[in-house]
Amino acid sequence: MSKIKVLDTLTSNKIAAGEVVERPSSVVKELIENSLDAEATFIQVEIKDGGTSLIQVTDNGIGMDKDDALIAFERHATSKIFTTSDLDNISTFGFRGEALSSIAAVSQVVLNTSTRDSIGSQIKIVGGELDNVKEIALTQGTSVEIRNLFYNVPARRKFMRALSYETGLITELITKYSLGHPKVRFKLINNKKLIYDTAGKNTITTRLREVFGEELASKFIYLEDELFENGSFKAWLAPKEYSRSTRNQQLFFINGRLIRNKELNTSLEDAYHTFLSKGRFPIAIIDLKLPFDGLDVNIHPTKLDVKIYNSDFLTSKLTSLLQDALNKTSLTLDSEYVYPSFTENSADTDTSFEETKPDYYQSNLDLEALPQEVSTSTEDEEITVTPSREDFIEFLDENNQVDSDKKSKVTVKNIPNLKPLGQLNNTFILAQNQDGLFIIDQHTCHERILYEKFMREDAEKEILSESLLIPTHIHLTGKQEGILIKNILTINKLGFVIEHFGQRSFVIRALPLDLKITNLEQFFIDLIDEIGESNKNNYHVLREKILIMASCKGAIKAKQKLNNEDILFLLTELAKVENPHTCPHGRPIIHHISMQSLYTTFKRGAFDIKC
Ligand code: ADP
Ligand code: MG
Repeated sequence: MSKIKVLDTLTSNKIAAGEVVERPSSVVKELIENSLDAEATFIQVEIKDGGTSLIQVTDNGIGMDKDDALIAFERHATSKIFTTSDLDNISTFGFRGEALSSIAAVSQVVLNTSTRDSIGSQIKIVGGELDNVKEIALTQGTSVEIRNLFYNVPARRKFMRALSYETGLITELITKYSLGHPKVRFKLINNKKLIYDTAGKNTITTRLREVFGEELASKFIYLEDELFENGSFKAWLAPKEYSRSTRNQQLFFINGRLIRNKELNTSLEDAYHTFLSKGRFPIAIIDLKLPFDGLDVNIHPTKLDVKIYNSDFLTSKLTSLLQDALNKTSLTLDSEYVYPSFTENSADTDTSFEETKPDYYQSNLDLEALPQEVSTSTEDEEITVTPSREDFIEFLDENNQVDSDKKSKVTVKNIPNLKPLGQLNNTFILAQNQDGLFIIDQHTCHERILYEKFMREDAEKEILSESLLIPTHIHLTGKQEGILIKNILTINKLGFVIEHFGQRSFVIRALPLDLKITNLEQFFIDLIDEIGESNKNNYHVLREKILIMASCKGAIKAKQKLNNEDILFLLTELAKVENPHTCPHGRPIIHHISMQSLYTTFKRGAFDIKC
């Protein structure tokens, strides 16, 4: 008897659901895209409990008549492509015809829909089986109500994170889509509370303000250009002084589709390359218009990944245009204090990505007040370091009876008599002892010193708060807000005093004592992003994260010139740490080239320490 059987429809739909519907936010994505394909200008998303108990997406699009509404839930039922050749030229978001059938297989669905000419229909589907169909009077549009997602797939329910996290993902998704489609009104309601509504904000300018806050939005650098025939882009770039610790605020749209593409990430990061330090990512929105036949959007069931044919030319041209814009901005900034920005007037007139025009105006920006993320100045000490270098030099002076050679030798753990030689390319400290050459990364070295110092101090005392004279205002994305709310008690215990201040706005009123951070907004947003990356965020984990970040931000950066005293100070402090080999992130601090390996390289035979 044959062992191979064709799976029944419900089973194959459930399997497809495993790919298309990973979590509540993927359902929202599919439904929003359907509404956009249906030419909706208003999309309302209502969720309950992170989307697990309810997701309802209502639009004012073209709607479906009863026959279409019934067939829409069949696997591979689509109105968007008809033949294989259409696959080479996809201009709609959907085309695989598997979202509705997959979602319906793992939830309880009620569809209400009506075209302009038909009477409305209501269709109920439970676990993929048609339950009820009836005619009802409706205005044009569609509402898809999904209840109890994954009620029949317990394994998938286990993958859900905290409800606030799932809500955060949905909020973030809608926020991002609202930036790619400024003509469409997006509204999000969570547990009956209004979370986001773009009503009256039908311009990219107003939406950037809503999403990124007034201050940053006013500083976005705008440019638009051709890439090749029929290929162009528009870009909104945050100045290089603003950056994030994740790629989450790097948005790429291709023909209105929010996509993920490593080559595009790299081309953007290359443009910022010399401006941002390692592990920092730009904030940017890039809206590309590319020929439909130059893309393959069918490489992943969620259609999030897109393949761009012959992408090399596109990405290198994009990098150089973005880089030019960033370079120009920093030049103008230094010399004439002119900052490209959106003007108040353009906010009222531009209505979409297409119509937004760059504008330049004489800015009254206080340059000193700009966040100083990238700085090579020796004066930039974001965190007060004690004992200071001056204290140490004083100490040396007081003890100058020690002969000068001994004075400059340091023993770092198992490395005795380390004598500094100097600095290599303002980035590495070179030192020697009888066993060879030691190359020390100045940043990771200082990071380790600060980290252990903070840990020591931390173990010794209870955390106290210190009020800020001028409270810091922060504006979070929906996802960040979810993370903050979920961890607020722990964050409070750690010494931060934070108050809610309107929609996704918060005010930081106090900090853990001794954590002297000048760019607090950036620090705090990075902290929230970091917290969002991990599942375990108890008091100790968070405390350690804060200390690691404080060490990293307070440490001397690469490309910073050090004098002999600075070098000696770092080596002496390194000698005191428990683990001089890696920084708190696990990056190496010291690289050793032994005399023996030099002898071998130069074919000098065996090295004898006595010679
Ligand atoms: P796809 O979007 O890939 O075609 P879906 O399963 O998402 O597949 O949807 C199936 C079909 O149902 C769509 O092709 C479209 O004709 C119809 N449809 C789905 N959602 C809507 C909507 N909000 N408004 C109008 N038609 C819709
Ligand atoms: Mg679809």
